[in-house]
Amino acid sequence: MDTRRARLWQAMGLGPIYTLRSVSEIAPNEADITPHVSDRSEMIGRLDWKELRNEVAGCRACSLCETRKQTVFGIGNTHADWMLIGEAPGAEEDMRGEPFVGQAGRLLDNMLASIGMSREGETPKSVYIANVLKCRPPGNRNPLPEEVAKCEPFLLRQIELVSPALIVVMGRFAAQSLLGTDASIASLRGKPHRISVAGRQIPVVVTYHPAYLLRNLIDKEKSWADLCLAKKMHEVH
Ligand code: URA
Repeated sequence: MDTRRARLWQAMGLGPIYTLRSVSEIAPNEADITPHVSDRSEMIGRLDWKELRNEVAGCRACSLCETRKQTVFGIGNTHADWMLIGEAPGAEEDMRGEPFVGQAGRLLDNMLASIGMSREGETPKSVYIANVLKCRPPGNRNPLPEEVAKCEPFLLRQIELVSPALIVVMGRFAAQSLLGTDASIASLRGKPHRISVAGRQIPVVVTYHPAYLLRNLIDKEKSWADLCLAKKMHEVH
């Protein structure tokens, strides 16, 4: 990183750099007994958009493929400055094949509109949206660690291909997965983080999941503050 940016980041109090782990680091035992696990993530790491989409659509790496209607890849501007990351598809997303199309998605669209951004189009204001998991966990249960481990190379490749200037992670689960921490959302939100993907450091802002905000209107204000922080960090970047 150039020294000017390093100084700016330091001045903003940007926190520790989280480096996304390789599959063998996430599940060393699994990698020992399944020698092709890291071959798989290496293979995924070389795919272009079309190949990646096809690989996700045909994925049978975990048992979620038995219960999904379809995979939910991601949507938006593939060259976006902002990438938004949620947890996993729900029932409506599973049916329509697009992330955040249910009630929580409508709130997300409104929140984006309030800062002049959108999932539509290919302008500098258009975002890219993806989830940690590409398949719906049955009954919307929490994703299991082995499901995350199998799906993580897909998200990593999406991040690499979009190469966003900033990532906004929505909800405890996605934040903990991406940052590799078990810290609470209350302690993670409201301050800048960064991750390193394929040698590139990307600023990260953690905020509440829109589904949580639907149930806890009072925290909408904090979420608004998180988006303002994201805007500020983007301007510095
Ligand atoms: N919740 C998520 O985290 N992602 C979706 O796509 C829908 C709901």
